Amino acid sequence: MQDPQQILRDYFGYSSFREGQQALIGQILRGGDVLGIMPTGAGKSVCYQVPALMLPGLTVVISPLISLMEDQVAALRQAGIPAVCLHSNLDQQTYFSQLSEVRSGRVRLLYAAPERLLTESFLSLTTQHPVSMVAVDEAHCLSQWGQDFRPGYLDIAAYLAQLPQRPVVAAFTATATKAVREDIRRLLELHDPLELVTGFDRENLRWVLEHPSRKYDALLHHLHRMQGKSGIVYCISRRLTDEVCEKLCKDGFSAARYHAGLDPAERAANQDAFLRDEVQIMVATNAFGMGIDKSNVSFVIHYNCPKSMEAYYQEAGRAGRDGMPAECILLYSAGDIRINQMLIEGDRENDRLTPEQRQAVTQQDHARLNAMVRYGGLTDCLRHYILRYFGEQAPERCGNCSSCLADTQKTDVTIPAQKILSCVFRAAQRGIHCNQRLLCDILQGKETDRVSALRLQTLSTFGILTDLPRKQLERMVQILISRGCITVDTANYSALTLTPRANPILRGQQTVEMALPKETPKPKSAAKLADLPEFAAHEDLFQRLRRVRERLAAKAYVPAYVIFSDATLREMSVKCPATPDQLLAVSGVGKYKLEKYGDVFLQTIAEYMHDAAAVQNS
Ligand code: ADP
Ligand code: ZN
Repeated sequence: MQDPQQILRDYFGYSSFREGQQALIGQILRGGDVLGIMPTGAGKSVCYQVPALMLPGLTVVISPLISLMEDQVAALRQAGIPAVCLHSNLDQQTYFSQLSEVRSGRVRLLYAAPERLLTESFLSLTTQHPVSMVAVDEAHCLSQWGQDFRPGYLDIAAYLAQLPQRPVVAAFTATATKAVREDIRRLLELHDPLELVTGFDRENLRWVLEHPSRKYDALLHHLHRMQGKSGIVYCISRRLTDEVCEKLCKDGFSAARYHAGLDPAERAANQDAFLRDEVQIMVATNAFGMGIDKSNVSFVIHYNCPKSMEAYYQEAGRAGRDGMPAECILLYSAGDIRINQMLIEGDRENDRLTPEQRQAVTQQDHARLNAMVRYGGLTDCLRHYILRYFGEQAPERCGNCSSCLADTQKTDVTIPAQKILSCVFRAAQRGIHCNQRLLCDILQGKETDRVSALRLQTLSTFGILTDLPRKQLERMVQILISRGCITVDTANYSALTLTPRANPILRGQQTVEMALPKETPKPKSAAKLADLPEFAAHEDLFQRLRRVRERLAAKAYVPAYVIFSDATLREMSVKCPATPDQLLAVSGVGKYKLEKYGDVFLQTIAEYMHDAAAVQNS
């Protein structure tokens, strides 16, 4: 029997496993269940696809989206692995031909949506053909605490129970919260699974957090730094997306927009232009990015704060897929949090939920938003917070985030901190839970309408921090939130409440230090990022290879990246392989694809080298 390493090389064209993959595969092959928690793009699929080729029986893969399943199946077939996908959109002929392919025993992986599992035909198919493994993709859909609860996922346990022999169960997700993990273990009835959290750290990404008073100016500042680079600007709404894109175009940037309100033709054209580097900046809502495999994204700027760390990490993580240094910048403002609250309250998308389920989802959405709010107030290492959030170990300082790089000095702020905390306390005594803005207004002695209406001028803490600049005061409140001294109830107009952690500070038993900026820090990354080595020398070749890929993809009716990813073509354009063996050494080229496509790509490279030599000699 082949070993996993060999299979990875021959079928997938990769020379080594990524962190965690080998351990998960090993456990599966020993017959043990697994729960893999890996961020999007870390390589979850390989963890069940490699053992699927080694186990005697069929592997059933449960996945929520038809389009994702189809892409996966197309990619597997391109790599020479017999896989099929059964879903309701298939025409009858295809459906039956796929069924008979499974019946013939050739098929290694069978993809299906969860709702299909308990149908009679699926049950009889998979009881006649022994199932060795059931792989559950996007397993967080099982949990009411997850952002994408899908009741159909609850059928999986019942399905497993109906199989003549219990297969290995392998579950995968990118969602890390404890409640979700526990739900997955419980609802899938996993047997003592190997639970592994891996690969959340992306060393080449620099995390930057800013609180600009004028976001558009801040955006311009960054885009000027990034000139010539490709990147995404995420906005919270369609309206804002249109607005920012229009302004950028007026200001001379090469930008296009993408959101669900555009007609499909414009959307497709804009996406294409971005993927082909004809447009440098994509301004988009979170509708953009699923299944996009563009490796040379050098920055992702969030114009607004997303609804959760999960969403933020997924969107920001589209930067730097090629492993080159890239920046993820969040332009944070409290106003974004209010919009997110409204979105949570207004979300009725999943109306298959019972009122209790709906309430649980809403509650959890608020908890996730809260984690984002805490991120927004950080002055400590951003990467540390992110990795800890996803359950990974991390050093206190990373040296590559705006907190670690900031020019700050440790300042004793015990007294203003006490004043802030006692103001929250005094207001609460009167039954008033203020939000951040009201709190700052009180502390600064501002007689706004709201202050007068609630008669807050008579509070003993009214006007006790007039000497502090507003910006700095807001910052300090945020930091106290990040440190867990104050909580924000996002479900209730962002009302602030003290936690027990505030007590020792109020009693003077604990001092408070904060790393406050010496002045407005200018990100130091500008020079470095601008000096990145580019593969300009063979850019032409890269474009030629892409055109070849385009043609092959159209012929095979598959998405282009299924043939070879951008990263693979990029590596070809750098290494310029001349022989099949050299081509095989390129990451992403396996034996099967070498046989199928090797000649075409080698020939393209040879022609390019020939042309380039001719130009040099002339
Ligand atoms: P996920 O499902 O976790 O979002 P995928 O399984 O789609 O991620 O993998 C993301 C990309 O990484 C794919 O292009 C995949 O082929 C690639 N990949 C996976 N494992 C490896 C590996 N060991 N070496 C190199 N590339 C890999
Ligand atoms: Zn850091």
